[in-house]
Amino acid sequence: MGKETAVFVGSATSPVQFPRDGLPEVAFLGRSNVGKSSLLNALAGVKDLARVSATPGRTRLVNFFRVGGLMYLADLPGYGYAKVPEGMRRSWERLVTSYLLGREPLALGVFLVDIRHDLGQGDRSLQSLLEQERLPYLVAATKADKLGRGEAGRRLASLRAELGGGALDVMAVSAQTGDGVGNLWKTIRAVATHHREESYAGN
Ligand code: GDP
Repeated sequence: MGKETAVFVGSATSPVQFPRDGLPEVAFLGRSNVGKSSLLNALAGVKDLARVSATPGRTRLVNFFRVGGLMYLADLPGYGYAKVPEGMRRSWERLVTSYLLGREPLALGVFLVDIRHDLGQGDRSLQSLLEQERLPYLVAATKADKLGRGEAGRRLASLRAELGGGALDVMAVSAQTGDGVGNLWKTIRAVATHHREESYAGN
């Protein structure tokens, strides 16, 4: 992440608590256990950054990390716990939807999927939501260290095919080895900067 460090600035349970300064926002989305906290920590180059979001009570919130004057990283709650009660699933949907729908500063979604797995039902719902909103998104295929190079390449191709070209890019990352993390950060930074310039141009 270069010289910038990400700093936890707060958690939100509803839209009134979302940031108001208009900095571009990048949303991290994916099923629980996909490696979201690990990736956020790896991106920030800070070990404990996202631990805060894994603490009980914070997992049902949108957690915001500010990266200097550049952007916010928004850590959205994970979906797909096997046995969540219906009411909890609905409250997840309400929160995530209230954040994703029509949010002006939102520049990009980073959609995490485990490189070893096909898309699940929750992933499909998220994909539809992103596409319905026309939110540009990148797919970060996590835990790439778990596969050999050849197999990882095949999985990326298959994810690209499954996603049907909706994603800006599908990138393999490993929070464990750091592979792909610098590249992902470069792309995030470029999209956020572009979004900021566009918003200024529009004013
Ligand atoms: P979250 O629930 O999406 O925030 O997922 P976590 O970051 O807590 O990771 C879930 C599990 O996957 C943990 O046991 C992590 O150690 C493991 N994990 C996360 N990222 C990687 C990775 O890049 N490589 C490997 N091998 N394991 C990972």
